[in-house]
Amino acid sequence: MSTSYTFDYLPIEVLQLRGYDFFQFIKSTLGEPEAHLLNKVAVKSISALLITEDPLDIFNYDVEDDELEKFEESLKDALKKRVNEALTRTKKKSFNFNPSSISSLPTTIATRPLPNRLSLSEHKEYVLKFINKWCLENKENFELENFDLEENVDFIVNIELDENSDVRASIKCKCNKLILLGKNDNKIQVSNYYKHLQSIACDHMKQIKNAARNLKSIQQQQSSIAGILTAAAQSQTSLIQFSAVSPIATQETFDSNTSTLSNQVTSNGKRRLTSQSKQHGPSKRSRI
Ligand SMILES: [Zn+2]
Repeated sequence: MSTSYTFDYLPIEVLQLRGYDFFQFIKSTLGEPEAHLLNKVAVKSISALLITEDPLDIFNYDVEDDELEKFEESLKDALKKRVNEALTRTKKKSFNFNPSSISSLPTTIATRPLPNRLSLSEHKEYVLKFINKWCLENKENFELENFDLEENVDFIVNIELDENSDVRASIKCKCNKLILLGKNDNKIQVSNYYKHLQSIACDHMKQIKNAARNLKSIQQQQSSIAGILTAAAQSQTSLIQFSAVSPIATQETFDSNTSTLSNQVTSNGKRRLTSQSKQHGPSKRSRI
């Protein structure tokens, strides 16, 4: 009975099994020789089996019993058979090992963090990834359009392994405060840094918020100037369009202007001529 068994199904009342039902249960799960042996050693219920330390102990004694000798032989054969079957199964499993079969493991087991397995750079990558994600998720809470804290700009991460290979981490914020990070299952927890950023103690966050506010007001001013310019440009365009749709009116204006100009020129010329004749008048007369 050194081999172990996997029970795909156990009846709910398994602990209450006794007599014939118990015998049938042992026969179907272990085999007939085991069922006969238990019957022989007076184990006739599950409760009796549970308090029996070793049902095979009977073979350690020199007992003259033909039936027992028969059981011993059949049990040995049955056990040998099972051991061989188990060995064959193990060999097959090791030959058929396929790494992709790992993906079929339940997610909880596959993704369960393994303590001390992450390298320093992996720990750092993990921390930076979480800070990045947190910024994205919380930018609206800070009323920021862009919120992206950068390593070595907004903070400095310090991660090291102590003498027991346990990870220790801290973050130095740009406001000069040092925040010690906790850990869970030997994985760094960044929550202390988030708490600091949300607290009024962080001057760096105040600066980020102020800078964003200033940028917003500049953008608003720019957009209002742009609005005025656009409106002005639109009114000019509408004037041009107005002129374009009434060419006759334009022509009339032009013509009247031209005629006025020509009249003026003519009258000026006349006047000039008149004045010239007036000027030349006396000289003419003087010549005569
Ligand atoms: Zn800070």
